[in-house]
Amino acid sequence: MITDDLELTKIFLDNEYIIGLPTETVYGLAGNIHSEKAIKSIFELKKRPLFNPLIVHVKNKNAISTVAQNIPDIAYQLAEAFWPGPMTLILPKKSGVNELITAGKPTVAVRVPNHEKALQLLEILEYPLAAPSANPFGSISPTSAEHVHQYFGKSLPLILEGGQCTKGIESTIIGFEKDQPIVYRLGTLSLDEIESFLGVKLKQSTHSAESPEAPGMLSKHYSPRTPLMLTDSLEATIEKWPNKKIGVLTFGPQTFALHCHSHLILSENENLEEAASRLYAALHQLDGLDLDLIIAEKFPEYELGQTINDRLMRASK
Ligand code: AMP
Ligand code: MG
Repeated sequence: MITDDLELTKIFLDNEYIIGLPTETVYGLAGNIHSEKAIKSIFELKKRPLFNPLIVHVKNKNAISTVAQNIPDIAYQLAEAFWPGPMTLILPKKSGVNELITAGKPTVAVRVPNHEKALQLLEILEYPLAAPSANPFGSISPTSAEHVHQYFGKSLPLILEGGQCTKGIESTIIGFEKDQPIVYRLGTLSLDEIESFLGVKLKQSTHSAESPEAPGMLSKHYSPRTPLMLTDSLEATIEKWPNKKIGVLTFGPQTFALHCHSHLILSENENLEEAASRLYAALHQLDGLDLDLIIAEKFPEYELGQTINDRLMRASK
């Protein structure tokens, strides 16, 4: 069932069921952080490996102290600047936080989503919500209630309707080493914005895909079923496959005719935020066309273009 009834959603959550949760980034699969049953169902439904921790969603920045401790000042400053918003902070966890949520790590991931419905829900609940993205492990994240329904059908009894996600790509994950912020995952809050707030360049975490600190770093992730190629020479790549049914994904309009079955343009005016917000919906759409191949054009390597290339690269593996 897709519903916008907050009280009904609360009843499901109070009774240890999990729900589809709208946020500004992507839809989540959410459960009460204090219910082991709910947390287990999240992992089972997603087929998510247990080493891959979840993000705790709280109603405001004061609520982080319910799950985290020894919080660096700089974390509070970032929270003040960017919450509610698409930034997740990795903080030392409090001892009561369920080990499944943190995958046995000493840290917990936490954020305040910038979505009216999600915030209204968190306000009427007596507990925060643990939620990863509402997609089977490794596949494209959902940016509408309908995507979530297509993935899970009746095995997810309730999805809270919250419209299309306005950001459309996962949150940017920031951790701390000796109180210095460090990027764990590129996301929908661009590094340029965080860096201009901090006045320093951010270091990127060096943890490899084999020992992922943030499994958003797993090299294969965010993938459609159709093979996807990422290229910076669109015409030449299309010409290599004359007999294939090809779908093409580009940033803006093209000056030449493309020989392909379908072509989706992410932003007519080449606006990176608009392109990011449409990326996953476009991949879902192309994936439904029974194509042999999706060819995606490489984005400019700045601001959200970096994040979009990161996701397209992982989708292409
Ligand atoms: P998703 O919401 O599906 O993007 O998944 C949550 C993301 O948060 C995953 O990439 C996790 O690895 C990351 N995450 C959650 N907790 C931690 C943590 N304690 N340390 C590092 N990354 C985390
Ligand atoms: Mg995910």
